[in-house]
Amino acid sequence: MPSSRARVLVMNSALGPLDYRVPHGMEVEPGSIVVAPLGPRQLIGVVWEPEHMPSDAEVGDNRLRNLIGVLPAPPLKAPLRRLIEWTADYYLSPPAAVARMALASTSALEGGRTITEYRATGTLPERMTPQRQQALDAIGERQGLIRELALAADVSDAVIRGLVKTGALEAVEVDIDSPFPLPDPDHAAPELSADQQLAADALTASTRAGLFQPYLLDGVTGSGKTEVYFEAVAAAIAAGRQTLVLLPEIALTEPFLKRFTARFGCEPVAWHSGLRQSQRRRAWRQIAEGQALVTVGARSALFLPYANLGLIVVDEAHETSFKQEDGVHYHARDVAVMRGLFEKCPVVLASATPAIETRQQVEIGRYAELKLPGRYGVAEMPTIEAIDLIAEPPERGRWIAPKLVRAIDEALGRDEQVLLFLNRRGYAPLTLCRTCGHRFQCPNCTAWMVEHRLVRRLACHHCGHIEPVPRVCPECRAEDSLVACGPGVERIADEAAALWPDAKTAIVTSDTIWSPAKAAEFVHRMEAGDIDIVIGTQLVTKGYHFPNLTLVGVIDADLGLEGGDLRAAERTFHQIMQVSGRAGRGEKPGTVYIQTHSPSAAVMRALVSGDADSFYAAETEARREADAPPFGRYAAIVISSEDKDAAHAAATLIGRTAPRVEGMHVYGPAPAPLAMLRGRHRFRLLVHARRALDVQDVIREWLGKLDWPSKVRVAVDVDPYSFL
Ligand code: ADP
Ligand code: ZN
Repeated sequence: MPSSRARVLVMNSALGPLDYRVPHGMEVEPGSIVVAPLGPRQLIGVVWEPEHMPSDAEVGDNRLRNLIGVLPAPPLKAPLRRLIEWTADYYLSPPAAVARMALASTSALEGGRTITEYRATGTLPERMTPQRQQALDAIGERQGLIRELALAADVSDAVIRGLVKTGALEAVEVDIDSPFPLPDPDHAAPELSADQQLAADALTASTRAGLFQPYLLDGVTGSGKTEVYFEAVAAAIAAGRQTLVLLPEIALTEPFLKRFTARFGCEPVAWHSGLRQSQRRRAWRQIAEGQALVTVGARSALFLPYANLGLIVVDEAHETSFKQEDGVHYHARDVAVMRGLFEKCPVVLASATPAIETRQQVEIGRYAELKLPGRYGVAEMPTIEAIDLIAEPPERGRWIAPKLVRAIDEALGRDEQVLLFLNRRGYAPLTLCRTCGHRFQCPNCTAWMVEHRLVRRLACHHCGHIEPVPRVCPECRAEDSLVACGPGVERIADEAAALWPDAKTAIVTSDTIWSPAKAAEFVHRMEAGDIDIVIGTQLVTKGYHFPNLTLVGVIDADLGLEGGDLRAAERTFHQIMQVSGRAGRGEKPGTVYIQTHSPSAAVMRALVSGDADSFYAAETEARREADAPPFGRYAAIVISSEDKDAAHAAATLIGRTAPRVEGMHVYGPAPAPLAMLRGRHRFRLLVHARRALDVQDVIREWLGKLDWPSKVRVAVDVDPYSFL
């Protein structure tokens, strides 16, 4: 290729890579972020090696258009380019859609920006006035904007400007993206136990060596996994290399920032959807320049342009929220391992309840396992007991069984804290009319409307549609005839308030904890003893450490088993183990009660006996027999449209043209369990294939030959976690 030609991945997912001419005097290299013309518009793009990004529309030299410019941002490095290619390929997504996640701050791409600040020069003005004197005294060594200095000195802006004119103050250009403080690896290093030290040594050695190696850091809740991987973070900091810590939820950021600060003396860089634009650009630029040494974030932090990544940690690695369910359907845990491979650095997957997929990687020797056998210090694992809801049911109209009521009585009597876990937001999952039986359904989704009594609304948890709770039934006009069916957290909170009127309760769900600041407030209230009973969804199951919390009650342990997708039992096990892990983390022992209708189910028996190994062994065997992941694999094809006939026609076409391939089977199309979502009708096909088969290639070829109207959307989900 002549050097005046460049292949560019433009940020338009509908287009493949395009070729441009590099005008005289402009210099680009692979990874350069450029502005390219497209029709009358200008698009941002990334220069790519043509051999890595084939184009099916090669244009002759004479028809090339000139690139418009190169943006003043560091070029995307080769390991990140390889990651983008791999992700696009594996998840059957347009490379531009993946690359866009790397270019996550448009403002940062425009380069550094400065503002003008002022400081004293030491020369005094020829004409000194009392106000000028007052200003100079107040300013001293200070540097700031005119407005800031005027405020600090309690004079008008004009006085400050006057001082600038006389030469007593001078202008300084300051980069608005100030550097982040550097964490100190030796700030407060803990004394590790022997087991912890062993695990930490392996991680620090790998980090120093700068070699790719995935690790499963497997230890019960409270065993010190965080302390252990912090040692590897310290090693990376000492080597001047960057660390990325991925957390499954933004709500966990706040406790993490606190712990990190206690260990390293300052906060890491946080990356999540709640950042303001100025924070995003500052983080992006400092990460790209290698100045930001430790970044903690949700899964989107995975594609940022780290200048020299030396360590990746995926905390709570079993969490299914690492799987993105729209846009590029990637699994951040799996992509993190690939990034480690391309960047040549260790990847630590930390979990008390590792996923079967991860255990299998250990089994076949691809991941190294580091085990922490017990809780740190005096803390013991909690005892877990099942409450049989058939043998010992709650009173009519109640949800807390008598045995759990007694246990709560006792815990509150000892001034200890209680956590009641129910993974359902709102007051009741279903509202119906007792006169005519009418059920309130979302107009846009195949889903019941959930009553949220605190805000007096019915809400759809799929599309966010809300309605006021009507006084009369819209169907039969009966008055005051609506009844709430089943419990949500708000209903449990009502029950707790009725049973223990003096206890202070708090509801913790995404409705109440919607920002890191809200999470911080909750932690603070728990620590101050300002809450006696927490009623929460899966949001409270992870990460928190409250030494005075000794009792956990699982209101409905069977909930996660409904629907029965292939990971239902495993997910239930993880969730209840995690929530149990909140009990008895300090000196006082913890107790967990799980309310269930089927105490003899394998997952309940495993929870009570604490015999995780035989549960996993049985689950793994069942997966092996069914050729389910991680032994076989699935890919889902979801066809949706507001026009039901069009969706159906496209689904039929895709089903009819399914290739016959040895080792692959296609099920469907069939209406999806969520047959309507956000006003779109949905059909699904499920592809089941042997591990060794390149199922992506087959699907690419199959769908690549077909056409459907633009109002139909076809989304492929490789390794799906949701089967709805
Ligand atoms: P995990 O991440 O496995 O749940 P943590 O790292 O949160 O465990 O440790 C649980 C608690 O024990 C935390 O309060 C932590 O600070 C404390 N801890 C663990 N190991 C040590 C240690 N070596 N020295 C002091 N405190 C420790
Ligand atoms: Zn809806």
